[in-house]
Amino acid sequence: MKKIYTLILLLIVAQLVAAQELKTENIFIITLDGFRWQELFTGADSLLITNKQYVSDPLDLKRRFWEETAEARRKTLMPFFWREIAGSGQLYGNRYRNNKVDCSNYMWFSYPGYSEILCGFADDDRINSNNKFDNPNVTLLEYLNRMPAYKGKVAAFCSWDVFPYIINRQRSGIPVNAGFEIAPGTSLTDREKFLNELQPQIPSPWGGVRLDGFTHHYAMEYIKKNKPKVLYISYGETDDFAHDGKYDAYLKSAHQTDKFIENLWTYVQATPQYKDKTTLIITTDHGRGTEPLDTWRSHGTKVDGAGQIWFAVIGPDTPALGEVKEDNQYYQNQVAKTAAAFLGIAYTNEKPVGEVVKSMIRTK
Ligand SMILES: [Zn+2]
Repeated sequence: MKKIYTLILLLIVAQLVAAQELKTENIFIITLDGFRWQELFTGADSLLITNKQYVSDPLDLKRRFWEETAEARRKTLMPFFWREIAGSGQLYGNRYRNNKVDCSNYMWFSYPGYSEILCGFADDDRINSNNKFDNPNVTLLEYLNRMPAYKGKVAAFCSWDVFPYIINRQRSGIPVNAGFEIAPGTSLTDREKFLNELQPQIPSPWGGVRLDGFTHHYAMEYIKKNKPKVLYISYGETDDFAHDGKYDAYLKSAHQTDKFIENLWTYVQATPQYKDKTTLIITTDHGRGTEPLDTWRSHGTKVDGAGQIWFAVIGPDTPALGEVKEDNQYYQNQVAKTAAAFLGIAYTNEKPVGEVVKSMIRTK
């Protein structure tokens, strides 16, 4: 009997030591709506970049983003991803290397994708439209916000106005700033006041999605002011420009989002509360088509390849593997449990959640 107690004690101690070895205290989940793995891993698409149907000034776009090799093109399009994340983090999902990441839901559009990322499981019976209905499932954000250590330290900034429902703002009590909402409250920074003034003055091309510059800067101001431990940022432009058939705007937006994430990472690494204690996990809600050519604009069950996605991760507990090139299959439902694992938390939900992506987290 005594032996068993000793064993249990040893196991508990081992777990505590393992948890203490992790440096991550803050987890930021970031998504780029419908940004294809094809552009992430091979840069601008040769069949689209000079296509006058999708590009208003092909010469200008080629000058900005065209290079002869895929390696050079992707670096030109997403310099932060291919310098900093490839240098000290990890990238998953290059299917030319047989490294695959897929949605486990079969909807292949936004609400089901975001719900799968944030909850850790697909729920095709209930999460099967983009309508504004409160998510019956609990997200990782809500799960953490219920824990004393994270209560009030969770927030979300999103370009799409359906996010207050996906995160179930009403039930979860998590501050979600989404769509065309402005920064609320009386203790606003000068920049928040300016953003509140500017946002209604700059017409968005879309009814339910704001331009990502607003989402990004609202998020940055909130981080500086409130120092959240768990943050979700959802950029939306890439998907909407693609639906509009504007490949030039799609590429420019992806390039700008890369700069936004660099801006966030630079702030993180220059701020004592975050420096070397913060992990970023970056992914997308769904893929898009490639064949026939026009399906790059679209996604959903009927579009071949629209369930194909990717992951990127950078932080103090992630081995610098760069682009992961081994044959393997990962799923969108693994993000939530992996994000929690960085915090030393074994996340569970009412339904089984996807497993931790073990290679993302250093083990001694
Ligand atoms: Zn879409």
